[in-house]
Amino acid sequence: MKTAVIIGSGLGGLSTALRLTQKGYRVKVIEKNDTVGGRLNILQDKGYTFDVGPSFYSMSYEFDELFASAGVKNPLQLEKLNPVYQVYFRHRKEPFKIYTDLEQLAQEFAFEPNFKQKIEKYLAKAGQFFHDTENVIVKKNFNSVLHYLMGMTKVPLKHTPYLFKSMWKVLDKTFEHEETKVIFSLVAFFLGSTPFETPSIYSLLNYTELKHDGYWAVKGGMYSIVKEIRKILEQRGVEFVTNTEIVSYENGTPDKVTAFIDQNGNKYTADVFVVNSDAASFRGKVLKRQKFNEQKLDNLDWTLSPFTIYLGVRKKLKNLIHHNYFLGDNFKEYANKIFKSTIAPEKPYYYVNVTSKSDPSTAPEGCENVFILCPVPDLRFKKDWADTETFAKNIIQDLQERIGDNILDNIDTMHIMNPIDWQNKFNLYRGSGLGLSHGMRQVGGFRPKNYDEEYKNVFYVGASTTPGTGLPMVVIGSKLVTERIEQSNVNV
Ligand SMILES: Cc1cc2nc3c(=O)[nH]c(=O)nc-3n(C[C@H](O)[C@H](O)[C@H](O)COP(=O)(O)OP(=O)(O)OC[C@H]3O[C@@H](n4cnc5c(N)ncnc54)[C@H](O)[C@@H]3O)c2cc1C
Repeated sequence: MKTAVIIGSGLGGLSTALRLTQKGYRVKVIEKNDTVGGRLNILQDKGYTFDVGPSFYSMSYEFDELFASAGVKNPLQLEKLNPVYQVYFRHRKEPFKIYTDLEQLAQEFAFEPNFKQKIEKYLAKAGQFFHDTENVIVKKNFNSVLHYLMGMTKVPLKHTPYLFKSMWKVLDKTFEHEETKVIFSLVAFFLGSTPFETPSIYSLLNYTELKHDGYWAVKGGMYSIVKEIRKILEQRGVEFVTNTEIVSYENGTPDKVTAFIDQNGNKYTADVFVVNSDAASFRGKVLKRQKFNEQKLDNLDWTLSPFTIYLGVRKKLKNLIHHNYFLGDNFKEYANKIFKSTIAPEKPYYYVNVTSKSDPSTAPEGCENVFILCPVPDLRFKKDWADTETFAKNIIQDLQERIGDNILDNIDTMHIMNPIDWQNKFNLYRGSGLGLSHGMRQVGGFRPKNYDEEYKNVFYVGASTTPGTGLPMVVIGSKLVTERIEQSNVNV
């Protein structure tokens, strides 16, 4: 039987394990933490259940494909979100509700002249970006930059300018009102960047949220994904080795790794190794590649860091739905300054997720589980987080004022993760939440490859390799890396 060791149990690692068992591999998963799932994790305290990171996903059919590839029916129970989210601005008491029904959405933007025509045109274009790249670029393995550039020639030429214009530039031309532009630019933050830096081709995310497949939450919380995959893997005899960090390796021959080694000196041998740790920083930290040393890594573009707060609140909170954004009135100035700053923002912009609004099983009766995510500078810029408690209190204070409800006096439980915690817990480089960012210099053939440059039995899956970050993308990545392994010349 062929054997595989997977280093890291994030969604990319687990999905690859599922596909490899179907191909007849005996698989072992090594995880540095005591729970599996990576960023897709769970926090439970005093009857409250929190999603640690992801709170929804799009392209749900990628999960159907994943389970089907393993010969099982998708066991996840999904809930479609509509409104997909609501957005509060500081100057406006009522939030904007973002519906997938464009008639209903148009009523929210009644002040924007010809909104319906404009959004239809905008989404039609975004849909073209999506469908013209999904199969020919996103779901393809490329062997070199040249191969990738040749692949790009299959993308209609008319899209080329949108690779080089910022998302904001196109929105600025499309809509008149600042609020409209800001709201439809928020998808850039799902890529861990700002709309001023994100190429407008990624407006395809507006299409996925509003037209294509929408946003989905999972019944029982997002961690159900991990539980269901793990259940199948255990039935197939996959072994999980937790609390174990891979720190070095051994190569018997110049082109093959014979073993990866953990913090206690234990060696793990296999025919094939799949690294689910960050594909760029693992090459530097564990494989000691000069091309990925700290200086080089620091010069790459990394996504923003998360500052997250998990609050168990012993009362029902009004004016919140499943997904909520709280923005200020200085979007451009905020986005351009705050993420390279050495201090925490005084008036932060943040996202709030309350799964107990749609799934009461995630909080005790009459209570709410509140997850707050505030994107902040990564640890290259703001290194010191001694102000963690003050910053968290500042955000909660702001939230309670804006929803007109008392949170601070009703807290049952509170956990906070600052960028240092995110870095240390999941080996995220400088605390970057989504890994390498997705500018044109860091996607496709320019992203760290899903196969190793030197060792032909080492492969990569996850946010910082191809195709990129986000749950559906790492599931696609698991398919791509499995194809690589199948096509490789690894002598097993
Ligand atoms: C706050 C936050 C919110 C997000 N929200 C969403 C969302 O709503 N929707 C969405 O689609 N995406 C979201 N994302 C992105 C999504 O979480 C990631 O893209 C995805 O989970 C990454 O999966 P991965 O396979 O790359 O592995 P990871 O989740 O990074 O897992 C890698 C695993 O490897 C382990 N590991 C690392 N190094 C070693 C080592 N040397 N030895 C052993 N183990 C090691 C880590 O502990 C970790 O468990 C969010 C991310 C964050 C941080």
